Amino acid sequence: MTPAHAGRDAGPAGSSGGPARSARVPGDHGFQTLAIHAGQDPDPITGAVVPPIYQVSTYKQDGVGGLRGGYEYSRTANPTRGALEECLAALEGGTRGLAFASGMAAEDCLLRAACSPGDRVLIPDDAYGGTYRLFAKVLDRWGLRHVPARITDAAAVKDALDAAPTRLVWVETPTNPLLGIADIAAIARLAHDAGALLVVDNTFASPYLQRPLTLGADVVVHSTTKYLGGHSDVIGGALVVADAALGEELAFYQNAIGAVAGPFDAWLTLRGIRTLAVRMDAHCANAARIATALDVHPAVACVLYPGLPSHLGHEVAAKQMRGFGGIVSLRLRDGEDAAVALCERTELFTLGESLGGVESLIEHPARMTHASVAGSPLEVPADLVRLSVGIETCSDLLDDLAGALG
Ligand code: PLP
Repeated sequence: MTPAHAGRDAGPAGSSGGPARSARVPGDHGFQTLAIHAGQDPDPITGAVVPPIYQVSTYKQDGVGGLRGGYEYSRTANPTRGALEECLAALEGGTRGLAFASGMAAEDCLLRAACSPGDRVLIPDDAYGGTYRLFAKVLDRWGLRHVPARITDAAAVKDALDAAPTRLVWVETPTNPLLGIADIAAIARLAHDAGALLVVDNTFASPYLQRPLTLGADVVVHSTTKYLGGHSDVIGGALVVADAALGEELAFYQNAIGAVAGPFDAWLTLRGIRTLAVRMDAHCANAARIATALDVHPAVACVLYPGLPSHLGHEVAAKQMRGFGGIVSLRLRDGEDAAVALCERTELFTLGESLGGVESLIEHPARMTHASVAGSPLEVPADLVRLSVGIETCSDLLDDLAGALG
């Protein structure tokens, strides 16, 4: 393990240290090479090819302040979490990655670090319900003003930016659950012209399909619980930044607030990341076939999937994504009851919240993941069903949906 994740030596912020690339893996290697090797040099003592789980809270000092490799306390720095953070930075093309206990913990840390009371933030008019809840029910009380904007339309974002000074633009693309697409490069230019930071929640795409920092975003947010972990067995979150000084500042807040990823969770996430590319290719292929089949099903009013040429954001998605992802949403002709019935009838598609795991999931956003946006400008249609298409045999998934749609 490199001493790159050093604690006290890393600077006055008491952060988890700079993202020294592992000696063997230059940043210009291919995505899959980075996923398997970045931050993951064989253990220098044993040669173990997988980073060990440093399940430890504190480290012996060789004399007061004599830290070995800079490690003093695992909230500040832990070698297993450091390996994940270095890998995340490499995959997103950033200078610094930071791993948290959940996606929400990452979002909270970012907003508390980057914003002050009175600041104005543009948020998507379609976003993960928990993100909206953080703005509306938690940070609002601390004076952070959130303004929903149609982020799928760059002109609407410009109008919202022109209306008042703005500290930060928050973009989710594709959005959860309506699969809206925001033009990251265009919004980055608008945000920067207005003196705002651009944050992109890249959870739905993963860095394999989309790299927002290379398109001009300042910060990428992840719920690593989803595709990065990939196996529905760990909750986690991440921030990755382009600018090293911002990374240093965020690392200060990460340590000061303390909602870090534990060593075993970091290890599980890193284990998932090694197969991210092959999993995403399989998710995309299955989702495209399912979206195409549902699109002509008589019980389905419309399919929301950026890979369909009829999707409003198809062209922008094709420009900024390597593939269209594994999430498919659909609206049922017969309304809410039909949507709920579909969710309760599938067998292979398991009824449950979350997404991005190898197994297929189905859910009713209005009553489940997005119940917290009911009555807000982000309310989702009651006839909507969201599928997280897994990597099972596609014909089995198609049969399951056809049977449940009756
Ligand atoms: N961002 C998106 C797009 C999500 O879908 C979620 C969770 O579903 C989050 C953030 C929050 O992540 P976590 O559940 O890991 O806290």
